Amino acid sequence: MPHGKPAGVRCVQLTADNRCALYGKPERPAVCVRLRPHPEMCGTSADEAMRLLNALELATQPEK
Ligand code: SF4
Repeated sequence: MPHGKPAGVRCVQLTADNRCALYGKPERPAVCVRLRPHPEMCGTSADEAMRLLNALELATQPEK
């Protein structure tokens, strides 16, 4: 995504089964390579991950 991935927007590199199309490739963004998944972020299902990530997004968004 040339201008970065806005919060709440699905990454264009996500496949239909929610896998990274760039995984293991040199063009995968450095921030993605550095990120280490954690149960507090991922939960135990895709639905739980979305709830947790949305909550983190709200808790860390800049004040307007
Ligand atoms: S790991 Fe990064 S590049 Fe891959 S799908 Fe997720 S946000 Fe997109």
